[in-house]
Amino acid sequence: MKDVYTFADLENWSDATAGEAAPLRVAVLGDPVQHSASPPMHNAALEACDLPARYCRLHIRPDELTETFARLKAADFIGVNCTIPHKLGALLAMDEVDEQAIRIGAVNTVAFREGRLLGYNTDGPGLVRALRAEFSVDLRDLRVMILGAGGGAGRAIAVQCALEGCERLVLVNRTLEKARLLATELTPYFTSTRVLGPADRLEAVPWENAALRRQLENVDLIINATSVGLQSSDPSPLPASLLLPHLMVYDTIYTARRTSLLRAAEAAGARGANGLSMLLYQGAASFEIWFDREPPVAAMRSALLKHVRQPAA
Ligand code: NDP
Repeated sequence: MKDVYTFADLENWSDATAGEAAPLRVAVLGDPVQHSASPPMHNAALEACDLPARYCRLHIRPDELTETFARLKAADFIGVNCTIPHKLGALLAMDEVDEQAIRIGAVNTVAFREGRLLGYNTDGPGLVRALRAEFSVDLRDLRVMILGAGGGAGRAIAVQCALEGCERLVLVNRTLEKARLLATELTPYFTSTRVLGPADRLEAVPWENAALRRQLENVDLIINATSVGLQSSDPSPLPASLLLPHLMVYDTIYTARRTSLLRAAEAAGARGANGLSMLLYQGAASFEIWFDREPPVAAMRSALLKHVRQPAA
């Protein structure tokens, strides 16, 4: 299979893909898209289920997005994933969008059904399933702190926490104003008093050690949704001295088995997991939407593990 197809290829898809062993009817749209780990994961799932379709990468520029959906429809596509920078553009191009994607303000999964474009966001549901798999916990039972609550992933996770009705949500972001705006938006979800004790259920707090230390006594799960840790030379977004043994630490970064944050968690006696499981389960949720069947998670996981380079540290 060609590594990346383009907008021009979509003009005459059957000619452009004539050499392929199976019809390409699912894809990820992005700019750039070369790095995406979705094709090996989804192709393993399609093969495991004996489905006569394959998944490819499509390099689509922002000004090509609307016409892309028309061409995909004409080429009889089943569905696509949207990655950077198309998650908002896709939301605007849909005929129908589910509530979760509307609240997040981003579509990462599109299904083509009876000539209509249906938009979903599986990042949040993917995280819920990842936390169950990694820590045997339900997000709704937890007091959660999100680092990077001003970014795209942080926002998706915060909205999921709100929709699940988690016990408590602490939003932390380098640019505090973004976390404050998000807290204002999510306030209606946190009006009832579920937590015993003085801590507010929803707070945006500055990224300062003293403020974080106070908060962490009333937090069960820290989620890193910043890009700090993507480079192996990055410091931990939180020093080990702030972390406590009762904490679960989930780092959404999946390019290293143990990021600097996960090493800090281990040093503090806390449990940790990296973002591979979120990537896996958001993909599994997309598969379920497209094919209305149980996704073959084990096959998807082993394809991902082979594809994603995960240096130990
Ligand atoms: P965005 O660019 O939308 O957001 C980046 C976030 O990181 C912002 O909150 C930003 O804060 C913060 N940030 C950046 N640099 C620093 C720094 N030096 N110190 C503190 N905060 C910083 O990116 P995304 O939301 O798309 O991605 C964020 C992370 O989530 C990435 O690491 C990505 O790998 C991961 N991710 C994982 C997924 C998975 O399935 N496992 C899915 C999607 C994303 P500010 O607002 O102040 O700029």
